Amino acid sequence: MSNRGMLIVYSGPSGVGKGTLLAPYLKSHPDAALSVSVTTRAPRPGETDGVEYSFITRERFEQLIKSDGLLEYAEYSGNYYGTPRAAVEEKIAAGRDVVLEIEVQGAMKIKKSFPDASFIFILPPSYAELKRRLQGRGTEPPQVVARRLAAARRELSYAGEYEYAIVNDSLETAGAQLAAVIEASRCRTKYMKDFIKQISEVEEV
Ligand code: ADP
Ligand code: 5GP
Repeated sequence: MSNRGMLIVYSGPSGVGKGTLLAPYLKSHPDAALSVSVTTRAPRPGETDGVEYSFITRERFEQLIKSDGLLEYAEYSGNYYGTPRAAVEEKIAAGRDVVLEIEVQGAMKIKKSFPDASFIFILPPSYAELKRRLQGRGTEPPQVVARRLAAARRELSYAGEYEYAIVNDSLETAGAQLAAVIEASRCRTKYMKDFIKQISEVEEV
């Protein structure tokens, strides 16, 4: 079987609960790592440089694009967000699963460059509940919340491009489903193709 880790693309509209759902999974699966993105947005209160994101200038971001230092990147709500290439490739080669918590444009780029990655989309139970969560989090001013809700409509229309969709209504149910679909992802034939090829080519014993 493959000794390489699996790339997991994890998306959903802002405020749907992606971070809340993923945290217990990562805690109980120390072999899985969350890729730390680079962004040009300002840190929110409580965020630490190098932990949630590496916060960099637009100039530095554009240098990373030019030097092919990013696996993917996108512009979202007026800021750049991108996945540093080297850190992801090293972890995958070392056998660790890597979660990319990224928006839909970046996810569609990964679908082209890493087609055997696992694609998971988190849905809100309703649009009204998404609005409540985004407002309730209280980390963005009202005009940013409004912009993110508008972006959510567009993002939800991409859900069908993913392999798995989980409704984050009860945290407990959605958390169990997240662990289950990641496990199921390892059994997809497209992920297993190297092993299938290898075993098929062995001469009869
Ligand atoms: P995202 O990472 O998708 O932007 P967060 O994880 O920050 O979203 O969650 C947004 C808000 O919704 C937070 O205040 C969080 O506590 C709340 N939340 C997340 N999941 C649920 C849930 N299943 N039920 C109720 N509230 C939730
Ligand atoms: P936030 O500002 O709420 O942290 O993130 C806004 C959006 O950007 C979220 O949908 C988040 O998943 C996405 N995002 C975070 N990092 C990256 C990245 O490296 N690439 C892309 N394409 N999107 C990202």
